[in-house]
Amino acid sequence: MTIQEKEAFKKNIEEQIAELSAEIDTIKKALYPERGKGPSDKVAHLNFKLDQSIHIQRYEEGTKRLNRLKQAYLKIDTPEYGICKECEEEIAIERLKLMPESIYCVSCMEELGLK
Ligand SMILES: [Zn+2]
Repeated sequence: MTIQEKEAFKKNIEEQIAELSAEIDTIKKALYPERGKGPSDKVAHLNFKLDQSIHIQRYEEGTKRLNRLKQAYLKIDTPEYGICKECEEEIAIERLKLMPESIYCVSCMEELGLK
């Protein structure tokens, strides 16, 4: 990976971190409505509960991914970045563009059942 490529990745990760943080904030607000702005009747309350379980799932997935992105960001200047943890081959650039937090190549990820 060239220095220019790494710089581009840094930007990409920064943007994804910002986007994801904003999304997590929105979910958080939906999870904890302000006093008086919560569900007003029984039906609304039921829907609220349903939505909440979806929000919680999205929130958990979001925070996990955010942590991985932050880890990747810290590692980008080290030679380990972009190298598969399992087979130590380079991870395909196309894959890293989509998921800059990847620590495994596609084959290893499939083999490990981590897809
Ligand atoms: Zn691998």
